[in-house]
Amino acid sequence: MLRSRAVVRAIEPGNSALCAHCGAPVKFVARAQLRQVIANVYVDGTWDRVEHFHADCYVEAGEPYGDPAEKA
Ligand SMILES: [Zn+2]
Repeated sequence: MLRSRAVVRAIEPGNSALCAHCGAPVKFVARAQLRQVIANVYVDGTWDRVEHFHADCYVEAGEPYGDPAEKA
């Protein structure tokens, strides 16, 4: 059974995703080590979509897809 899951990644230049929590762009900022949470969302065991969050927003949203795994 595939479940939704989330990972933490550095925000890279050119990222244009919108945060699923606050709606603002998840934007790269030079010299700021900003992090984002990328969630693969499964509905009824089938992959449905990818959601992006600011790392802080993901926590504020109550970690809807679980504790995010750290990835280098
Ligand atoms: Zn946000």
